[in-house]
Amino acid sequence: MTRCRACGHPITEFFSLGAMPPVNAFLKKKDIPNERSFDLSVGFCQKCYLVQLLKIVDPKDLFRHYLYFSSTTQSIIEYSKTTAYYLIQRLKLGRGSLVVEIGSNDGVHLRWYQKAGIKVLGIDPARNVAAEAIKKGIPTKTAFFGHEVAKELARSNIHADLLYGANVLAHIPDILGCVRGVSTVLKKTGTAVFESPYIGGLFENKFDTIYHEHVFYYSLLALQNLFARANLCIYDCEFVHMQGGSLRIFVCHEGMYSASEQVRELVDQEHQHGFHRLSSYLKIRTNVEKLRTQLTGLLKKLKKDGKRVAAYGAPAKGMVLLNYFRLGKFLDFIADKSEAKQGLYTPGTHFLIYPPSKVVDDRPDYVLILPWNISDEVMGFLTEYQKKGGKFIIPVPDVIIV
Ligand SMILES: [Zn+2]
Repeated sequence: MTRCRACGHPITEFFSLGAMPPVNAFLKKKDIPNERSFDLSVGFCQKCYLVQLLKIVDPKDLFRHYLYFSSTTQSIIEYSKTTAYYLIQRLKLGRGSLVVEIGSNDGVHLRWYQKAGIKVLGIDPARNVAAEAIKKGIPTKTAFFGHEVAKELARSNIHADLLYGANVLAHIPDILGCVRGVSTVLKKTGTAVFESPYIGGLFENKFDTIYHEHVFYYSLLALQNLFARANLCIYDCEFVHMQGGSLRIFVCHEGMYSASEQVRELVDQEHQHGFHRLSSYLKIRTNVEKLRTQLTGLLKKLKKDGKRVAAYGAPAKGMVLLNYFRLGKFLDFIADKSEAKQGLYTPGTHFLIYPPSKVVDDRPDYVLILPWNISDEVMGFLTEYQKKGGKFIIPVPDVIIV
């Protein structure tokens, strides 16, 4: 029996993707025979409503060869800038303020605060990306954020006016230690802002966000229960388009600010959708199987008609899609813009990753877009291919041919 990582209540499994290789572990040819797979199953806590993985792979194994540099994705650069200026204005940050970011990557977000004369501190567990940030002049601590690190910061008198984390609450196995850490580092009047892929996505076929690094999948109901454990309160929330639909929450010390209308509305909506009931989660598998039938049906037909299909992009979520739906046999090759990934092999399916020029030179009949959340950016990038008659397949949340 697995117990909830937030409240200790037993959790119930509702969807299993079986054995899956770590989807961010791109391989050298010599490492392919030694590739390992780990169970990937998701469960629901009926007491605090937190959705979580049943088995957790040691993050140190998953992060060792982390290849995701935020600054290689144009949409992330622009998003970081917009978010930073929005938060500076909204929270009235100025020269005396301090912004601390958990999971600061190569400093892509913090540099905008720094440009505005605001003090910053990044915290990131990946040594190579933290080193990149320091090279760019952004103070960064290499660590997994938790209660211990937070106490260390507090002892050095570091208290954040804004504590920011995009896509981090899903990743930290010791989630209680994390929220206690937030409480420790957050200034009395400060605001912590977190963005996490929204659980609603799982009900809309966006199941490929399920992978080993993502230990938790959040509803607002679950987030409220979680933060309450560290005497923190969610006073506002809004949806943002990142990662195929994320929920952004504004957190304060209990009693500091009162909850907005948006919070009350979303809580009502989640009750209506049954995000607090196991029976709702049990429907996810059926929907995903429908999507599988649709997508493999299309690819099978294209193959039979002698069409050539390549995949563009090798994001983690795409690796989940290829492995769980067993799509490898339908594809001719895979290309990705990231130079760090080119020349390596994809986890599980073992395709050599080519640069994007291969799509233009080779001209497959169809390109399957694996980072479906940024399909517009991908299609914009491959206009030359499209002008010459190439077509795109967007696989999630619905199968669409463009
Ligand atoms: Zn629980």
